[in-house]
Amino acid sequence: MHDFLRISCAVFDRLLAEARANPEIECCGLLAGRDAVISAVLPAKNALQSAISYEIAPEELFALFRRMRAKGLEHLGIYHSHPKGDNAPSPLDLERAFYPHAAYVIVSPNAGASRLIRAFRIIEGRARELSLEIV
Ligand SMILES: [Zn+2]
Repeated sequence: MHDFLRISCAVFDRLLAEARANPEIECCGLLAGRDAVISAVLPAKNALQSAISYEIAPEELFALFRRMRAKGLEHLGIYHSHPKGDNAPSPLDLERAFYPHAAYVIVSPNAGASRLIRAFRIIEGRARELSLEIV
């Protein structure tokens, strides 16, 4: 397990664009890549259409995993935005983190945020922040 997360510059920009496209609703989706470098963003619909939580419908999630495998990519992360407040995991994020091997990436659409994109590993309800490395 790494203490850092490598993402491409294009992914960084794409995540900000996703979060800012609809700043009233949490955006969400999967992150994929190869050799521990995230190189692809697979946006999903927030089934809850909420500003404070997100959920990807199971059928969409399965379709995204299929698309990822078809492209030979590994599932490396899950992202969502926090339209308001800090981009640290919420109690609900901690409770619903079902992928211990994935990085949980939280994006802030607010230009004034101290860090626009933060990443965490969440295991058994506990979050550990990962340093972002733009490659
Ligand atoms: Zn959240």
